[in-house]
Order: sequence, then C-alpha cells, then structure tokens
Amino acid sequence: MATDKVSEEYGSLVFTDADMQQRLPKPTYKELRRVIDEGKDIDLDIANEVAHAMKEWALEKGATHFTHWFQPLTGITSEKHDSFINPKSDGTVLMAFSGKELVQGEPDASSFPNGGLRATFEARGYTVWDPMSPAFIKDEVLCIPTAFISYTGEALDKKTPLLRSEVALEEQTKRVLALFGKEPRRVVTTCGPEQEYFLIQEDDYKARPDLILCGRTLFGCEPAKGQELEEHYFGAIRPSVNAFMKEVDDELWKLGIPVRTKHNEVAPCQHELAPIFEQGPLAIDDNLLTMEKLKLLATHYGLACLEHEKPFEYVNGSGKHDNWSLSADGENLLEPGDDPEDNLQFLVFLAFLVAAVDDHADLLRASVASAGNDHRLGANEAPPAIISVFLGDALTPVVEALIKKEHAESHDRERVDLGVPALPDILRDNTDRNRTSPFAFTGNKFEFRMCGSQQNLSDPNIILNTAVAEQCDRFCSYVETHGDLEFMAAALQFVRHTFRDHQRILFDGNGYSQAWEQEAEGRGLLNNKTTPDALPCMVDPKNIAFLERYGVLTETETRARYVAQAEQYAKLINIEANTMVYMVRHMYLPALFDYSGDIATSVATKAEIGIESRAEREVVTTLTGGINEIYSAVAALDEDNRHAQSIEDCREQDDYYRDSVIPKMVTLRAAVDAMEMICGTDYWPVPSYNKMLFYV
Ligand code: ADP
Ligand code: MG
Repeated sequence: MATDKVSEEYGSLVFTDADMQQRLPKPTYKELRRVIDEGKDIDLDIANEVAHAMKEWALEKGATHFTHWFQPLTGITSEKHDSFINPKSDGTVLMAFSGKELVQGEPDASSFPNGGLRATFEARGYTVWDPMSPAFIKDEVLCIPTAFISYTGEALDKKTPLLRSEVALEEQTKRVLALFGKEPRRVVTTCGPEQEYFLIQEDDYKARPDLILCGRTLFGCEPAKGQELEEHYFGAIRPSVNAFMKEVDDELWKLGIPVRTKHNEVAPCQHELAPIFEQGPLAIDDNLLTMEKLKLLATHYGLACLEHEKPFEYVNGSGKHDNWSLSADGENLLEPGDDPEDNLQFLVFLAFLVAAVDDHADLLRASVASAGNDHRLGANEAPPAIISVFLGDALTPVVEALIKKEHAESHDRERVDLGVPALPDILRDNTDRNRTSPFAFTGNKFEFRMCGSQQNLSDPNIILNTAVAEQCDRFCSYVETHGDLEFMAAALQFVRHTFRDHQRILFDGNGYSQAWEQEAEGRGLLNNKTTPDALPCMVDPKNIAFLERYGVLTETETRARYVAQAEQYAKLINIEANTMVYMVRHMYLPALFDYSGDIATSVATKAEIGIESRAEREVVTTLTGGINEIYSAVAALDEDNRHAQSIEDCREQDDYYRDSVIPKMVTLRAAVDAMEMICGTDYWPVPSYNKMLFYV
C-alpha cells in the first residue's frame, strides 16, 4: 500500500501509543495504559521499563538530551536539558535514562514567579511526569510533559490545577450521566484553540526595540491605509508566508499536532492557524508548542512572528478562540441527540454552561486579563470586556419558551410528554455566528473568544471546568431534593429554573455597541475593563472557597497566583515604560534634533543670501515645539514610572500603573507620533507602520 508523506511522518517525533505497544512487554504496556487512562500511580519497575523504551526510541531519532517540559506561571514553557550520557571507567559512555528520571525532576527553579509561595531557602520545586500527554522530540531533546509543584506539594504551574479541574469535572459529570443511566469510562474536556498571529519582515522587527523587548509597537503614526478595504481576510497568501506555513504544518504534524486550517486574518500581515480539537490539557500543550514553532520557523523565511495581543495600533489585535466541549467516551455532551431524552440531557448541559458563566463571570474575566489583552477587550474589535452568552437564533426561542414553560411552538414534531423540544433539526443548520459575543454556542461546542493570543488556555479552562463541575453538583442535589418528581420532570424543571435565573447573561445582539454597555450595567453584569480591575476578584472569599471546594486550588495557591499575575502586569508596564523612555532619548529625540537642525541650517543659509523659506521656517518651528513636548513628556513618564516601582502593595501598584503611568505613556506616544508625521523618512530611526504592514 502506497502511503503519502504526511501519514508517514505524522507523529514521527512523538512517543505514541503505537510506539509503546510495540516496544513494551505486554503486561508493562497494559499497566501503563491503566496509569494513563485511570490516573493511577506508576510503580518504579514499570517506570524503569517505560524510561528504557522511551530512551531507545529517542536515541534512534537522534536525541541526545532529555528534559522535563513544564509551564511555570509565566505562561510560556520551560525546559532544562540533561544529556543521557553516563561515562564509564573505560572511557566510553553509556546512554542512560532511569524511571526515576522519567517520573520526577528537580529543576533549580527558584527564579520562576511563584507569588511568594516559595521562600528562597526552600526553593526546591519538582516536576512530575504527566503520562496523559505523550513525550516528544524537539531539537534532539526528548521532552517529557510534566507538572511543576513545590516541595510541599503546591502547584507552581498552569498545568497542575488544570489537571485537577479535569478530575473534578469528570467526577461530577459522571454523577449527572449516571442519573441519565449512563456509565462512561472517561469524561474529558475537548479543546480546539484558534491561534492568531502577525508576520512581518525580520529586518523591520530587529530595527524596533519595542517589538524586541515588548512584543508590540509602542510608537507609530497611523498608516495611510489600514484594514478598511478588507482585502487581506482570506486573501491569497504571499509566497514567503505560504512557504513558512507549509513548514509549520510539516513540523507540527511530525509532533502529532493535528493542525488543519490556515488563512489570512482581517488585519494586514495577520494570520490564523487552527488544529482539530483534542483532549483539553493535550490541546493546550500542543498550542504552546505551536506558538513556539511559529516563532522559530518564521526566522527561516526572514520573517518575525508576533504573538502579542496588540502589536499594532489602528488595526485589529490577535486573540485565541477557546473552543470547548465535554466528551463522555466520545459522546459530545453539547451535541443535541437524536431522541428527546438525549435532548433533555443536552439542555441540562447547556443550562450548566449558561449558569457557570453567569456565576463565575468575574473569574472568567480575570482568567483572560493581561496587559496585552487590555488593548483588545472592549476596543471595538474583539469581544467587549463584558461577559455574556450567545445561543443563536435557533436555540434562543427554545430557551425562551422553556422559561415561559411553554413548548417550543415551531418545533413540535418530536417531543416527550414533558415537552422537551426536538432539537437536532433546528440546530443542524445553526450557522449564524455572532462574532461580537465573548462566549458563543456554535452548534456543538462553546467558543470563548476573550482569550489573548499569547495566553496559556489553562487559565480560562481551569475556571470553566470547575464552574461546570459545580453546576453538575448542583444538578445532582436538585434532583435529590425533588424526589417527588420523576427524574425527567425534575431535570426539565432544573433546566427551566436555571435558564430563568440566569437570563441576564444571555445576549444575542451587538456586543460592541454603546447601548449594550448600558443595558449590561442595568442587568448587573460586570464590566471590568482593565487587568487591575479584573484581577482582585481572584482573592474574594467566595472565589477562594469555590476553587478549594473542588480541589483545584488551595487558598494559599490562589493567593499566590493572584500576586504572581498582579506583579506580572506591573512588570510588563514597567518594561514598556522603560522601553519608551529608552527609544525617545536614544532614537527619536536625536533623530528630531538632526532633522530640525538640518532644516534650521538651511533656513539660516538661505537667509544669508536673502531667501526666506516660509515652509522650512514653519516646519522647524513645529518640530521644535514637538521636541519640547516630547522632552517634557518623557521626563514625566520616567519619573512617574520610578514612583510606580516604589509601590509595594501589588494591587495599589497595578492601579497606579493604570491610572497614572499608562496615561503618560499615551501622551508621550501621541507627541512622538505627531512628529513622525512630519519627519523625513531618512531621518526616522525605526520602520514605520506603512513599511511594516504593507511593504511585505
Ligand atoms: P469556526 O469556529 O472558525 O467556524 P470550526 O467550527 O470548524 O471553525 O472549529 C473551530 C475549532 O473548534 C477547531 O479547532 C475545531 O477542531 C474545534 N472544535 C470543533 N468541535 C469541537 C468540540 N466538540 N470541542 C472542542 N473543540 C471543537
Ligand atoms: Mg472560531
């Protein structure tokens, strides 16, 4: 049988189930499957055999090192490489890798952010193998996906609480499904992250300290053309970009990452890539690897990949859509079934999601809060900062009818006596999409669209998973306390009451409109516009208790996470402010001195021979005014940022950055951008928006 190149290479750099089956003795393989499928602890003998097989496989693929690959609170991934070599007394080496090295590592991890969780004297942190995510090879290094915890067992990473939330959700969902007479072996989340990014010329990137240091442009006057012609979206892909995308596909396929869709996005130079969905935590691992590869491979084509949420003012920013659902042994629980009973089950889960989002809108908002994402949310392009749920034209009447206790009138073909509406027909063609909605039902899954492009999706999924687990729990109690009703009747009543009680979160209109902001306020919905507004709810007692109740985060862990995130915000704005000061003093002012100096010289020279140049005189006057303005603005920013740095309380510090430092950054940028508008191109020290976005 002839095989194509893709199927031959797909997953070739992953230690797949097929590899394990082939290389491990049968009983070992069976035991390992139990560890993976049932979350059992692994014993050292088994671990030794797995490590040996893994090492042999990795050596055959040319690997020389191994690493525990983990996700500290910075959100990106970390790795420290150790080689397999083990020198022998006869001067040769043995390539060795033990079960202990596979299962547990001890990176010297004192300098990862931990929100004060680890005093440095006990800075030890452990990485622990996550056998649910397969090992893979990257740059001749065998990478072992791990969770990162402190000496005392506290989570120091993004993965540990995510895995805990998956456990809580599985347990609670199984309780619900048991009431429907189902006993699935596994319930898992499914996740499909759609990743947006920009590609510009690497030379332009290297010429801009703001892009290098902050990932976004801190200056730049409006380009002559923006995205108004909408010609880039789904347009033909440029040859260099096309070649880049091909290599990305090849590399990701080798890593077993099922990337599928690629296209141009709305803004010039903006693109999107989406994989086929996978089990939640694995999809997140794969998304992190994807982001890493995008950055790395771009350089092969003289390009730079920008993953920041807002690399450029005046055009759209980048997000990451978090497509989320629940799967019970492959049955998508957000897919309406073929008979009314399954539809009831579907409605129950739909109600869970609506209530979960309403009850924990504050935490969901906090989970996507970052300095970068503040430029998107509410900025008339991405979803607004207000969280609402979109159900669509087909489902909304059904829900409304349920609330009113009537049957859905127009869809009365199939239903049980209780009045469960027939859903599959009406949903099958449910193609209307409200792009302005932050949390949209899209046929058989929800799509959370507030996530930032650089973000690790563990953060929102931890909240979402736990919030849905809580709803499952509530449902089981509800059914129990309504013992007088038949199960189906109780379930339907639960659905009705839940939709009734959470109606305020449902919104199908235009999320960008001013009117919605007012209406949302009237409905009592939160509108936390910035990160400093959004984060503090993390440490509300009710929220601490909620995550603790389902074993996802202890109070200490939650508090530490809040501090780490709050500090991250202040650190990022501080870096941006410093970069602005640096660029102004070392690049923009000198350029403007040169340009205005040359014109002034010309004015003087011409005056000597009796020529009066009105244009030059006016330009040099404007430039001098602008220079003075910039000079004052940069001093003000520098001083204010120093003060901000001295504030000790992280909440106070964040507020100060938002209220005082950021406005000064805006003022300084405006002053510089105004001068860019009139400064000669040859004098201007960095590539302009016109060049970066269009001369590609
Ligand atoms: P779009 O939203 O652009 O129309 P799709 O609906 O095809 O695109 O899917 C977008 C993403 O959602 C893809 O990554 C896809 O694999 C993922 N997706 C589809 N079904 C599910 C599901 N049941 N659970 C999680 N993600 C899903
Ligand atoms: Mg989408």
